[in-house]
Amino acid sequence: MSSSEFHKSYLGIILESLPVGLSLSAMDNGQVVYANARFREIYGDWCKGEFTDLETLLEKLALDQGDPELLQKRILENLESHNLPLAQVSEIRIPGADGNPRIVSVRSIPLPDLNLNISTVQDVTEQKLIEQNLRQSERRYQLMAETSPVGIYRLSPGGSYRHVNKAWREITGLIESQVLGMGWDIALHPEDKDEVMHLWEVASDLQRPFKTECRFRRPEGRSVWVFLQTDPIVDSQGHLEGFVGSVTDISLRKRSEEEIRQLAYYDTLTKLPNRSFFMEQLERAMAAAHRGNTNAALLFCDLDSFKDVNDSLGHDMGDLLLQQIASRLNSCIRRGDTLSRLGGDEFVLLLPNIADAREAATVARKIQQSLVPAFDLGGHQVYSRASIGIAVYPEDGTDVQTLLKHADTAMYAAKNAGRNRYRFFSEEMNRRNVARMRVEAGLRQAIGRKELSLAWQPQYDLNAGSLIGVEALLRWNSAELGVMPPASFIPLAEETGLIHEIGAWVLEEACQQMQQWRRRGSPPLRVAVNLSASQFREPDIADQVRDVLDRTGLDPAQLELEITESVLMGDGGATLRTLKALREDGVGLAIDDFGTGYSSLAYLKKLPVGRIKIAREFVRDITTDPHDAAIAGTVISMARNLSMQAIAEGVETREQADCLRALQCPEVQGFFFCRPVHADEFSKHLALD
Ligand code: C2E
Ligand code: CA
Ligand code: CA
Repeated sequence: MSSSEFHKSYLGIILESLPVGLSLSAMDNGQVVYANARFREIYGDWCKGEFTDLETLLEKLALDQGDPELLQKRILENLESHNLPLAQVSEIRIPGADGNPRIVSVRSIPLPDLNLNISTVQDVTEQKLIEQNLRQSERRYQLMAETSPVGIYRLSPGGSYRHVNKAWREITGLIESQVLGMGWDIALHPEDKDEVMHLWEVASDLQRPFKTECRFRRPEGRSVWVFLQTDPIVDSQGHLEGFVGSVTDISLRKRSEEEIRQLAYYDTLTKLPNRSFFMEQLERAMAAAHRGNTNAALLFCDLDSFKDVNDSLGHDMGDLLLQQIASRLNSCIRRGDTLSRLGGDEFVLLLPNIADAREAATVARKIQQSLVPAFDLGGHQVYSRASIGIAVYPEDGTDVQTLLKHADTAMYAAKNAGRNRYRFFSEEMNRRNVARMRVEAGLRQAIGRKELSLAWQPQYDLNAGSLIGVEALLRWNSAELGVMPPASFIPLAEETGLIHEIGAWVLEEACQQMQQWRRRGSPPLRVAVNLSASQFREPDIADQVRDVLDRTGLDPAQLELEITESVLMGDGGATLRTLKALREDGVGLAIDDFGTGYSSLAYLKKLPVGRIKIAREFVRDITTDPHDAAIAGTVISMARNLSMQAIAEGVETREQADCLRALQCPEVQGFFFCRPVHADEFSKHLALD
């Protein structure tokens, strides 16, 4: 093969096998003189037979141009050099081989010295179609994004806004010009910024998806709760191209969550945090105090006479009082403190971080001060005081339950010390409290175990010396605790509500015993039964008494109920109704421990009270203290003027008895005459058959 032949066939093979269509045309008349296989394929039938093959062309050119090798070289050089500045690129549509239109990209390289135009042709139909689809789908996506109810945005790799959709703009209240190019945190609520940006930095460093719930702040200041999600876009090489994200307005959900939280964590009456919430806060505060090596204080406040308000003015007024108290207490606390209502009239205050215990005392005083002004309950002026117990973490307890229990114990100590006080917890209190709990536990079983009994103390006509009545006094002989005097367990029975059951037992037992003696032939002696204030306030107490009398058959005239002055201090209406109902049934009423309270005889006049018991306190010093003698004398003479009986109790000596006789006291009771005795012993005093 000659070298020119080789070159011819070599060039021919190359050109024929090019994946690009190639043609040579005459520059002067535009006639195509050569087309390679790809060119023919692209143009199909449309160009068939119109041009020559390469050999013929080369030969023809060689004839025109002389040295064929030189010619080939020049053609190749021209092709390789891709003389781009001279190239003209155009896209045209042609009818394709299959009849469908095709889009081809034509690049023409003029070679004027050869009078040739070299054209390369590429079928770009598919590519164009893809581009078009891509553009369409992008438009569709843009439209979708724009009309999506979810806020959608795109961020640069640095985290600044590249695009935000309509919903995003509506949620944030910002417009594109305000945000494009700005950092994505521009919409964040300042209070959430630190926390959210920290999370964001962690996530974006790791190129992880980022999700959070946080608040945006709109330009007019309103905040919106949003759920935020951002994903990094990474190219095939792993380079960060930016982020896409979505924002949903979750304010509604947050609001209903908040409502549920309110119900679960807040007291509906006072809107204060409830016990569950408080316990969580306390737990947290204790953990923080532990870490920071600081103190936390717990103030346990219990209202001193809330029950009176509830009983006398009704529950609505009681609720009103609690609300007013809650708001006064609220005004005493600082940011970070937690005030909560545990239930009933119990409030607790948590001071999570105090330098020393004196701070807690200051707050306690402040609380008590805040309660001083009268409360207005629908026109009723009511005064309320609180007893406060304080326990300090970690000294007084290192777990929630213990600390709360000890604050409660301290509160009881404050109450016992005379109310309207505050007390710090001490171990001594704890011991007393443990003892108290043992008493309570024992008392709960006392009736069932038949540990209760009555002692009987006679009452006498001072002049005649005759037996005129008897007071039934409760006794408790506990299996565990031994003989318990009433003063050591009655207050506890009142606090715990056990007094109702116990009191009912006493009444029943006293009436039964009297009736039994009566059946055995005793004269119709009067029996005095003590009634606690809380027993007296039971709305159906008059019915209960009537039931017992019916059951036992005791003559109502034989029964006298002893109540203390404090009972009369409650709401006039209810008290008076009960007193009258009892009186109408023929039951007698006596005011016990008279003189130790505040009631005046003039007030008593309006009440159906038959007897006044001069308190032991006055009788004790009656022979030595002229004051006490004067008081006793006044009570005796006024009682006579009001047609009431007066009885002096606690008469221990002959001198006291003489003194009372001189003051014309009609009746007496006391150790000097007779101690409270067992029923068997007392029956000897009765003229039984
Ligand atoms: P109280 O009603 O004032 O009862 C009189 C108390 O004085 C009785 O004490 C009695 O034993 C005591 N006493 C009688 N004479 C003398 C005396 O000459 N000198 C002295 N120093 N004391 C005398 P007791 O039995 O210990 O009762 C104490 C209190 O317990 C009673 O005071 C009463 O308030 C309450 N109590 C007793 N039994 C009952 C009851 O069944 N129900 C209720 N609610 N309270 C009761
Ligand atoms: Ca009594
Ligand atoms: Ca008494």
